[in-house]
Amino acid sequence: MHEIGSREAPAAPAAQLPRRRLLGLLGAASAVAVVEALASPSRASAAVLLGETTKGVDSVEEALAEAAQSAWGGYSNGRVPASALTPVLASVAGSGYLRQDAAARYFDMSLAFASAVGRPLAITEGYRDFARQQDYWNRYQAGTGNLAAYPGTSNHGWGISADFGASVDVAGSTAKRWMDANAPSYGWQPTGNGFSRPEAWHFDYTGAWTGPLTVARDLEVVLVRCTGSLPGVGAGFIATLGIRTMRHMSSTGMVNVMRALDVPYYELSSTAFLDAMDALAVPRSALVGNADYWLR
Ligand SMILES: [Zn+2]
Repeated sequence: MHEIGSREAPAAPAAQLPRRRLLGLLGAASAVAVVEALASPSRASAAVLLGETTKGVDSVEEALAEAAQSAWGGYSNGRVPASALTPVLASVAGSGYLRQDAAARYFDMSLAFASAVGRPLAITEGYRDFARQQDYWNRYQAGTGNLAAYPGTSNHGWGISADFGASVDVAGSTAKRWMDANAPSYGWQPTGNGFSRPEAWHFDYTGAWTGPLTVARDLEVVLVRCTGSLPGVGAGFIATLGIRTMRHMSSTGMVNVMRALDVPYYELSSTAFLDAMDALAVPRSALVGNADYWLR
């Protein structure tokens, strides 16, 4: 992993917020409730069980046993708490999480992708909770949705699959060719190519889980994404918040660079975002769309 030098925090005037308190504030605010799905899955026929799985299976029991091979951290598939996952940007709401090692390699890969292909790599959907898998499965069974794995058996439910956009979803594109050739060296395999109905966009992270990475860092800034709309700015505002500093991140590439450097990342509602700004004494006037500056 990359490591930021263990700089001492600058001598803090009394008005400044200790970094530990800042992290506590943001961590508490970004806790996300896990949605529990109550509906029971319908029985499946052998043919459709091959949906979005890397190995052929003939029964629900086989599919569940196969999926259990990828279990980690003592969690159930699709029921991994957000606090155990690493946030990533993803366009499907609520899916912006991956297992920590998969996310770290994704950030490294996205930097290489951007420099080679000329645009940022983007995730359409990452982690998928049980309720959403259930919904996808029901739609697949009804003939109205994409290929979907039986609920409880998708690698999306372990936080180790990602569906990519940025033209990776277009077979034969430069982006897809780069990913097929290079993603495996980051532990990401183009497994969707082998689905019964090929999915150019689907990749699985195949590295073995060895537990949370330990990262030595001592930063006075954190990266914060506002998941709601901010007054005068709109939705999707991403900023580094620090001791009386704020900088607007204007591109996914900039965000990914910060993430690759292990800058702590949080997602906050509009209300929590404004509260954090107030707690840090960052003036509301700093909230400007497309800004690119440091406040001192
Ligand atoms: Zn997928």
